[in-house]
Amino acid sequence: MSKSKVCNTCGKRKSLSNYNVNTCAIDGLRTYCRTCATLKMRNYRKTGNTTNNEFKSKGKKGLDTVFAQLKDAYKKYGYDLSKRLRK
Ligand SMILES: [Zn+2]
Repeated sequence: MSKSKVCNTCGKRKSLSNYNVNTCAIDGLRTYCRTCATLKMRNYRKTGNTTNNEFKSKGKKGLDTVFAQLKDAYKKYGYDLSKRLRK
């Protein structure tokens, strides 16, 4: 059992106590260490909303794609989503 993992940002192996908790992750920890998390936060504040806006627009596009796929899937199984929405 390994009590350490490699940070995917700085590439250094660090003990698990150096990682913040991420309940969404498989191992329950973030993929990058606390040091990198601090640096990321600092960079985020420095660059302002530029990257955030880019991320947002990409995220919206992704959501639309997912929704379109969902609509197709519903159609496939004979479920008319648009009829349901118009109700
Ligand atoms: Zn790191």
